[in-house]
Amino acid sequence: MKTDIVVVGSGVAGLIFSLSIKDREVILITKKKLEDSDSYLAQGGICVKRDQNDREDFIEDTMKAGHYKNKRESVEVMVDESRSAIESLISYGVKFEEKDGELLYTKEGGHSKNRILYCGDHTGASIMEALIEEVKKRSNIRVIEECKMTDLIVSDNRCFGILVNKDSEEFEIRASYTILATGGVGGLYKHSTNYPHISGDGLAMALKYKIKLKDMNYVQIHPTAFYEKEAGRRFLISESVRGEGAELLNKEEERFVDELKPRDIVSKAMLKEMEKDNRDYEWINMKPIPLKIKERFPKIYGYLKEKGIDPNKNYVPVVPAQHYMMGGIEVDLNGLTSMDRLLAAGEVACTGVHGANRLASNSLLESVVFAKRAAKYINENYEEASDLETVEPVEDKKDYKLLLNKMIKNGG
Ligand SMILES: Cc1cc2nc3c(=O)[nH]c(=O)nc-3n(C[C@H](O)[C@H](O)[C@H](O)COP(=O)(O)OP(=O)(O)OC[C@H]3O[C@@H](n4cnc5c(N)ncnc54)[C@H](O)[C@@H]3O)c2cc1C
Repeated sequence: MKTDIVVVGSGVAGLIFSLSIKDREVILITKKKLEDSDSYLAQGGICVKRDQNDREDFIEDTMKAGHYKNKRESVEVMVDESRSAIESLISYGVKFEEKDGELLYTKEGGHSKNRILYCGDHTGASIMEALIEEVKKRSNIRVIEECKMTDLIVSDNRCFGILVNKDSEEFEIRASYTILATGGVGGLYKHSTNYPHISGDGLAMALKYKIKLKDMNYVQIHPTAFYEKEAGRRFLISESVRGEGAELLNKEEERFVDELKPRDIVSKAMLKEMEKDNRDYEWINMKPIPLKIKERFPKIYGYLKEKGIDPNKNYVPVVPAQHYMMGGIEVDLNGLTSMDRLLAAGEVACTGVHGANRLASNSLLESVVFAKRAAKYINENYEEASDLETVEPVEDKKDYKLLLNKMIKNGG
């Protein structure tokens, strides 16, 4: 196949990028179904700068949570373009919670004020459903589901598309530009809130072709995944549950940490307390939440009820689990990587926004802001690759996923 632009991944980054491309043919491939992305699983919400007075506070909260390892220039871009990112989502049909025509804002750990827009406790699903509907309307976007990128087509540090596998058949999709939007690395972990099929495929490509990576030692552990004995994806008890007043309790039913500290601090406190208590979980007590739990957190409430837990009456067992990759393929403010004609956006990319630890609800925002910028760059600078059809891909069958796994487990 041949196209102008090939997009790998149908999370929020891949979809926003595709929707923002003008007058070009796009092929968007995705490993499973369009809906099967971590973006769809997002519960809490998406940050936005409240007003100009919030600019410095939002930047400071992001930098503080990131231990000041963030790239300030990227943080400023994200904060300054946050309103327009939200306006794009609203224009695609996303309906954030409102009261009397005014948007409602919630709070999560590390935020000095309420600046998170949300849709119940299913913000990701609401955003993704609107974007998927929009993608289906676009005649210039061809979607191929159940299609896995297995390699890049590379010559002389230039990317000419990808090799894919669909229904056990291998074929090439040649393109003047390729964008990786393959998400994080959760699938490489035993306990993760991520989908197992989201397992660092884009990063493995970067290792293979020596595309510049950054901050690969910065992996976020979320403090409150629902504790279950069985292996598999861990269900998240969103941070906004603590934002609305839930408490963490130890074996003695005593609080042991400020629940609204950034995630790395709360996770460390959880692990320490679990060791002290000699058990595999601690409790989250949702009873102090002043709102009706069933109405504010319908998905979480429903899941817990299925597991035989009524959060109005019972404590909920929670455990830290891998959640997010702050590092990734190093990109500039337009999503350009160190390889010519290859871009990256979303969790697979490292814009430097998050530093050593991501502030809650900054990930969807980062994906939208920087995917839009990447598309704008292509819209303004598109040049067809002249030797697209003749380039021969490098033959290398080494398993770079194994190498990636080792690298991450060894701390980047
Ligand atoms: C449970 C949960 C809750 C979260 N809550 C929030 C929240 O409230 N707010 C917030 O800001 N962030 C939240 N996050 C983080 C956020 O959802 C993600 O970081 C973000 O959505 C990543 O988007 P993405 O487009 O980069 O990747 P993803 O949404 O992960 O999508 C990756 C895509 O790439 C595809 N793919 C991967 N490999 C291949 C391949 N080889 N070939 C073809 N396709 C491939 C996948 O199938 C998928 O479509 C949450 C994450 C989880 C897991």
